[in-house]
Amino acid sequence: MKELRLDKYLTEMGEGTRSQIKEMARKGRIFVDGQPEKKTERKIHPEQNQVSVDGRPVSYVRYEYYMLNKPQGVVSATEDSRYDTVISLIKSRKRDDLFPVGRLDIDTEGLLLITNDGDLAHQLLSPKKHVDKVYFARIQGELPPDAKEQMEEGLVLSDGTPTMPAHLEVLKQGREESSLEILLTIREGKFHQVKRMFETLGCRVIYLKRMTMGSLTLDEALAPGEYRPLSEEEILNLK
Ligand code: URA
Repeated sequence: MKELRLDKYLTEMGEGTRSQIKEMARKGRIFVDGQPEKKTERKIHPEQNQVSVDGRPVSYVRYEYYMLNKPQGVVSATEDSRYDTVISLIKSRKRDDLFPVGRLDIDTEGLLLITNDGDLAHQLLSPKKHVDKVYFARIQGELPPDAKEQMEEGLVLSDGTPTMPAHLEVLKQGREESSLEILLTIREGKFHQVKRMFETLGCRVIYLKRMTMGSLTLDEALAPGEYRPLSEEEILNLK
């Protein structure tokens, strides 16, 4: 890990703003390797130096990766004036620069990766990389008999936007209203894409949950609103 300034180290770990850190150092509250440190511009080797604030060790974490089962009613954003954000659910976060990789609608549940690794996010979101996403949906209305073929060929949404080929699997086709359950695999992430694709086929999505994103699969043990850190293996497989 590269060395970095003491004030950057501590602001990234959420200990305060740069000026607050300066003030804390001036008051003798910051120690490096057991010695009070007043120079907040000094360099720190995260793997070698021990930093503490008020006697509490503060270790440095460069990247964080969390799998969240996004509940309904929270927004996929870092800040919002009206709703709770997905970031506010990650209570154990160390860094203050986490963001969701892509967006799920406010009423969509399921797999959301939360990280501060911009390169990984770019790889997963880049339209050129064609990362598969699998969604589970409950649908109102009847699918046309050739729905699978239409999805496979790619649709044209109501505003004229073409979609790439998608794979439809019908899980359950009951008789009652809204008892149709499907899995849809798409490679893009256009605005309201799954909902708009089914609208094009004359149906309505009444429940939507993302199950996978590339190699990452939602952990079934996570209830909506729960999260866990990714394993080393999950991180490596995504890269
Ligand atoms: N497609 C949608 O329509 N909504 C989502 O949240 C994700 C994919």
